[in-house]
Amino acid sequence: MRIAAASDIGPRRPTNQDLYWHDQRLLVVADGMGGHAGGEVAAQVAIDTVKNWVYPSPDLSEERLKEAVTQAMVAANEEVYDRAERESALRGMGTTLTMALIAGACAVVGHVGDSRAYLFRDGSLVQLTTDHSVTNELVRIGGLTESEALAHPYRNLLTRALGAERHVEVDVETLRLRPGDALMLCTDGLTNVLDDREIARTLTEHADPQRAVDLLVTHANQRGGSDNVTVVLARFEDEFE
Ligand code: MN
Repeated sequence: MRIAAASDIGPRRPTNQDLYWHDQRLLVVADGMGGHAGGEVAAQVAIDTVKNWVYPSPDLSEERLKEAVTQAMVAANEEVYDRAERESALRGMGTTLTMALIAGACAVVGHVGDSRAYLFRDGSLVQLTTDHSVTNELVRIGGLTESEALAHPYRNLLTRALGAERHVEVDVETLRLRPGDALMLCTDGLTNVLDDREIARTLTEHADPQRAVDLLVTHANQRGGSDNVTVVLARFEDEFE
């Protein structure tokens, strides 16, 4: 597996409230929100919680792995929520969090918010997560088109975030990886300005993961993206053990 990541403040924001982390087993992106240092703190606290979580051995059942990812994200939610309760300057902070736990050929994707996980297979992208946003809800019920959603004044309003409430519902999915697949995690700073076909083209043309993520971030900024932008990419080239 080859992994690369890139994160950029973008041309217009005063701070980068996106954060990522990865090792050979875990990929994570978080997009923090909240005034003062709130967004950065929320993203950091959430990522620290899931990266320090003790996950079960990869050969345990998918159900056990899914439980562990859910528990890690529930704990991350509580950590962010409690910290916001304790420190008045951080009141109202929250963060998205999208993670993938790699266990052999199994990937367990945990998700809250509007960051995304994608599977890149045979030249096309499949979105693995559902955006927990007001506009996505409106698209789903047929009240908005995709392009209307991108321009909508409520496009940044989330229906779920870590730290927003004491309890959170976590989406967890598993998938079977094949040699040649890639997993991409990203924040909305990428997907608000580049569509799936543009992203897929970059991943097809650039086999080197670092080159691919650097180009994606550059393209997002050139496209007039005003948000922070973060991409983590893992390419699975070899047979799985
Ligand atoms: Mn964002």
